[in-house]
Amino acid sequence: MSVTVVKFGGTSMADAKSINQVADIVKQDKKRRYVVVSAPGKRFSQDHKITDMLYACYHDLQINGECKATFDKIRERFKGIVSDLELDIDIDAYLNHVESDMLKYNSAEFCASRGEYLSAIITAAKLGYKFIDAKDIMVFNENGDFEPEITNEKVKQVLSKVERAVIPGFYGGDESGLVHTFSRGGSDVSGAVIARAVGATMYENWTDVNGFMTADPRIVSNPKPIEKLSYKELRELAYMGANVLHPESIFPVRVGNIPINIRNTFCPEAKGTMIVPELEEKDMNNRVITGIAGKKGYSIVYIEKSMMNSELGFVRKVLAVLEYYNISFEHLPTGIDTMSIVIADSELAGKEEVVIERIKKVVNPDHIEIKSNISLVATVGHGMSYKPGTASTLCGALAKENINIRMIDQGSSEMNIIVGISTSDYEKAINAIYNAFQK
Ligand code: ADP
Ligand code: ASP
Ligand code: MG
Repeated sequence: MSVTVVKFGGTSMADAKSINQVADIVKQDKKRRYVVVSAPGKRFSQDHKITDMLYACYHDLQINGECKATFDKIRERFKGIVSDLELDIDIDAYLNHVESDMLKYNSAEFCASRGEYLSAIITAAKLGYKFIDAKDIMVFNENGDFEPEITNEKVKQVLSKVERAVIPGFYGGDESGLVHTFSRGGSDVSGAVIARAVGATMYENWTDVNGFMTADPRIVSNPKPIEKLSYKELRELAYMGANVLHPESIFPVRVGNIPINIRNTFCPEAKGTMIVPELEEKDMNNRVITGIAGKKGYSIVYIEKSMMNSELGFVRKVLAVLEYYNISFEHLPTGIDTMSIVIADSELAGKEEVVIERIKKVVNPDHIEIKSNISLVATVGHGMSYKPGTASTLCGALAKENINIRMIDQGSSEMNIIVGISTSDYEKAINAIYNAFQK
């Protein structure tokens, strides 16, 4: 029988009502044998995600040596869920254990992982499936790096003996038993890893929207869901900020050519978005762009020097400075006598002055400055490489709104145009581009 791996995100696990809905979805299709769950997310907009509360516990532990007040709120949430679901599990015992282990291990990753751990125990009880601890099958090395190949073998071996199971997302363990996590939103990656290992024919990723939309629904009102997306388009959009799916979830499924279906737990009848290895001509439906995504928090190191292009080793020398200071960059558009290096603020923070001074020393530019408060907006789609005029439509749309383009970079794949704009123009820019490409 073919296997579907299903992953349910935070909003799907937020309370007893949504967990009942999750159980109904799982039971509706016998192929849904392996269930990966997130920690309970927000129930309403002012609510807190359990994972954020667990990070707060770790913070309390560092400052006060205890985290009782914050942990009590977590305790209340989980006790409420178990009692509303009328499950016969001793949740107090689990919670006591978790609380004392948090003190014992005193690690941010361990604390953060307990939301998924408890969530999976509850879901396994609700479904009558076996609980398998991610610590024992998702392998990390002692530096906290994920080990994909060792994990693949381990998951295969363990799950081949288990017909149906619930596995917590987001974390795994190293050889000595210490817990490590993926980056935020990492349960998507856990689901993809399990899908690859069990040779799933489908990876269903259940969330709170009707699929991958043309743009972030929190910025553009009522964007259209995308029916089909290629792996490459997904990678570009997810990396550039469409956080409906973690950008690294593509790698495991790509090995096995497994399609991903983004579905809505709260509207299971909607078909959602299908993410497939390659699109056929008919899938693109004459569309020019597939989607728009963006991220705030960038700076541009802008360098001018006459005849830069003919100076042998110029770019290498500049990049060696970044390497020296352990800074990775995102984009590097160049002109004849100019070069812009786009860098995330989190990478550059505190190193601005030394970087400028050192670049001045090694390449003696005519002018160098840092432009800050930059956001990046990516417009993505295979259709763009066939359609002339895409860049002019995009630039025209921004010009019409009086938005100054501070940087523009067309990826060599020709399926991606990235513009850098002032962060104050961010929402306006996404709406302008979205409207310009509406048919
Ligand atoms: P989960 O907890 O299920 O993993 P996430 O919050 O991680 O859910 O991702 C779903 C959210 O992603 C949506 O509620 C939506 O606000 C946001 N989002 C951002 N960009 C997009 C997009 N292009 N399409 C759909 N949702 C998007
Ligand atoms: N609970 C984790 C987070 O909030 C992981 C996830 O939801 O995917 O980031
Ligand atoms: Mg998510």
